[in-house]
Amino acid sequence: MTDALYFHCNDSRRAPWAGTAEHHMLTDVPRSVTCELAQNHDGDHADHLDYLGLEHGDLWAYWNDADHVTYAVALPCGVVDRTLPAIHQDPCHLYAGHPPGHSWDFVDMLHD
Ligand SMILES: [Zn+2]
Ligand SMILES: [Zn+2]
Repeated sequence: MTDALYFHCNDSRRAPWAGTAEHHMLTDVPRSVTCELAQNHDGDHADHLDYLGLEHGDLWAYWNDADHVTYAVALPCGVVDRTLPAIHQDPCHLYAGHPPGHSWDFVDMLHD
């Protein structure tokens, strides 16, 4: 347990599929991706796209500052804050091996 305060990176890009979604008038497809990792994190930005089920993991979009976007299925981190009573322990929903800052470490709200 550290005393660090984590804020979301919130780096936001137009999604590479946005034009296709608009062409097909898909209204429930996000038009942008927004990073859910901590500010000043190492490596690629990441946005959770979809839950695929417990045994499969989650679908994530990753991108870098050169606008190169990739996709990967990743298992959830799942770490809980053991300083809290068990009933308040909420597993981290970020991907396993993410940079420091579990989802429950953040002091600001997730973008959506
Ligand atoms: Zn980021
Ligand atoms: Zn975590």
